[in-house]
Amino acid sequence: MTKEVRVRFAPSPTGPLHIGGVRTALFNYLFAKHHQGKFILRIEDTDQARFVEGAEEYIIESLKWLNLLPDEGVGFGGEYGPYIQSERKEIYTQYIHELLANGKAYYAFDTAEELDALRAKGEESKSPFIYNWSTRDKLNNSLGLSEEELKEKLATGEPYTVRFKIEPHENILLDDMIRGKIHIASSTLDDKVLYKSDGMPTYHLANIVDDHLMKITHVIRGEEWLPSMALHQLLYKAFGWETPRFAHLPLILKPEGKGKLSKRDGDKHGFPVFPLEWKTTEGVAKGYREEGYLPEAVVNMLALLGWNPGTDQEIFSLEELVSLFTLEKVSKSGARFSPDKTVWFNHQYIQQKSAEELLPMFDAVLAKHSFSVTDELKIKVINLLKNRANFVHEIVEQGLFFFKTPTSYDEKALKKAWKEDSKSILESFKNVLQSTNFDETSLHAAMQDFVSTQEIGFGKIGMPLRLALVGALQGPDVPVIMEVLGKDETLARIENLLRFTA
Ligand code: GLU
Repeated sequence: MTKEVRVRFAPSPTGPLHIGGVRTALFNYLFAKHHQGKFILRIEDTDQARFVEGAEEYIIESLKWLNLLPDEGVGFGGEYGPYIQSERKEIYTQYIHELLANGKAYYAFDTAEELDALRAKGEESKSPFIYNWSTRDKLNNSLGLSEEELKEKLATGEPYTVRFKIEPHENILLDDMIRGKIHIASSTLDDKVLYKSDGMPTYHLANIVDDHLMKITHVIRGEEWLPSMALHQLLYKAFGWETPRFAHLPLILKPEGKGKLSKRDGDKHGFPVFPLEWKTTEGVAKGYREEGYLPEAVVNMLALLGWNPGTDQEIFSLEELVSLFTLEKVSKSGARFSPDKTVWFNHQYIQQKSAEELLPMFDAVLAKHSFSVTDELKIKVINLLKNRANFVHEIVEQGLFFFKTPTSYDEKALKKAWKEDSKSILESFKNVLQSTNFDETSLHAAMQDFVSTQEIGFGKIGMPLRLALVGALQGPDVPVIMEVLGKDETLARIENLLRFTA
């Protein structure tokens, strides 16, 4: 039997989740589901100084909104919990002692000031300070201490960190599922701190201990973690554990193509870089949800940032993505983010949805206006206007006149549409309407008839009529508008314009 695939999304709750993080979650989800495996959510909050209130809830809500539901994890249950690292402190302490006992790690008593001074000196002499095999024997750590001396030192309560002891002159071979084979010389690595003076593990220790205990088979994460891969592999070896497979995803690049996509790019161009809105005392960062994007559009857009199906197909449901997704089709090079393409995806998904499906979003936008409108009318309006809309709020904005009799008329439109003869033309057409059936076909025929008997151009009646009904020279075909508004409302609006222009 092959081993069950188990992957995890392991964000740190340091603020709102960037869409790069969402893409990591998505690729983990797709990989897990493609292999009938498990997708796990683990919160990595060992860095207490960077902890941000509400970030954990934000992450969970984002995954729920995007329909990327974890099988296990914070808020989702599972047998390998707790899934929050700050609740697993004792576990890490146990494992750091194992490394210390095996001589794979050592206590370091150097103070922050001492290390800063060494770094400053290194910078001055252009040979950067590195805490490793080349310097550690001369530094303030337990490597040169007898067991007795060490015991004494620890008994005095002197603060310490625990560092990983990396052996030099080793050629480490890494094998990344996206990047292939990479060689790293162990001599170039530093003896990373695994355990901090505050009694908390660092990311590196907690991450690999948890990946091991949670039986993670594949670590799929952002490119920024590639430099840690050698260290992580050495840690697995030091514990005698099987190393999971690694896959480092390409960066998401700015719309201009160079550099990593940042919040500032979003601010500059006016697009969100977060799935949900994030409010702080400093302001509000836009979210895809609140800006009117459909979760399916966001997922589809993100799936194509770094992955390609090998065909020209662009629209994929989550199920299709699950069945097609493989890491072999994920590229090494950065993927350029396109705000326009994201809008295009939203347009496509709006078209796919029925008016009934769009109704809740429509209602949420309409709630800002105080109309009471029947669902029947709302659905008619959505169906009429949807094909030109990128967002549901555009349908509301463009359709407001259906719900509200115009009380003013666009000045430019008035000038263009209202001529000397408009009053008499509109009045006579009003009489025609009295005896016309209010369906699109009859109304259209009535207008045609009217212009030919009156021997006038279509615009002569079309424009004043549109102005009366819409308040501006916009909207769908006039007969369609009249059918939706019905006879009474149509006639009342014509009356209004006649009164206004009298
Ligand atoms: N906590 C890390 C982050 O915030 C996770 C890195 C990893 O997946 O190993 O991105």
